Amino acid sequence: MKILLTNDDGIHAPGLWAAARVLRQVGQVFVVAPDREQSGVGASLTLHAPVRARRVTVDPQLSGGEGFGHPVEVYAVEGTPADSCILALEQLVGAVDLVVSGINAGSNLGWDVMVSGTVGAAVQGYVRGYPTIAISVGGVENPQFDAAARLLQLLAGRLFPSGAPGPDQGSPSNNLFLNVNVPNQPLTGIAGVRITTLGSRSYGETIRIEGNGARQRYWISRNRLIATNPEQGTDLWALRNNYASITPLQATLGHQEHVPAVEALLEGIAAQLLVHDD
Ligand code: MN
Repeated sequence: MKILLTNDDGIHAPGLWAAARVLRQVGQVFVVAPDREQSGVGASLTLHAPVRARRVTVDPQLSGGEGFGHPVEVYAVEGTPADSCILALEQLVGAVDLVVSGINAGSNLGWDVMVSGTVGAAVQGYVRGYPTIAISVGGVENPQFDAAARLLQLLAGRLFPSGAPGPDQGSPSNNLFLNVNVPNQPLTGIAGVRITTLGSRSYGETIRIEGNGARQRYWISRNRLIATNPEQGTDLWALRNNYASITPLQATLGHQEHVPAVEALLEGIAAQLLVHDD
């Protein structure tokens, strides 16, 4: 089993290596990740500049030590999380059995998935037909990765128990796209695991002004909690109640229920559009 592991916190992030240590007990791990912190870049791609990727040797202790599990091959990419995933699957690694993005320091709940680099990278695995897991813990300060890593190991082992058919051979779990969020707690502090729906807006932005006059600059922070009373059954609700949350995702924004409203809006507009003055 070949596993692509990427993230948006960068190649040096502890959460990436917490994931690498458990995944190499399930299969051969290829780490292809940005060379620096890229949180919040969403699904963005580098299309107007070349992207460098270099093979790096990492301290074996980071990935669990020599002779521990399957081998790990590592590339640092001078680009976005989505660049990393695309480069890996199209060029550096090729086809894999599973794509994992994380473990991110900080939750990715509700509409966070729209700006999340963790999910933005994962989308590139999903659209190529691979089973894909985006995984995060609910703490940026002092993130605790043990519970998330354990859950990731169990999920990866079940997606492809040894000898099971891969994604192209009609596995029943073919191309699941899971957004996993785990409370920032030790294992003993986790209440359980819930399958959830994607909640709504979790955090809003605040702007801090620095300097004045021509030197004035703005800092944008996503630190204003909006989901203070999240709907039961959502990912926001699960984390609030100390449950690990697993939300199945798909990549669509289409809103079929709004078709009648748009039809009413467009009444007669084609005739207006096509009136010529000549
Ligand atoms: Mn991040």
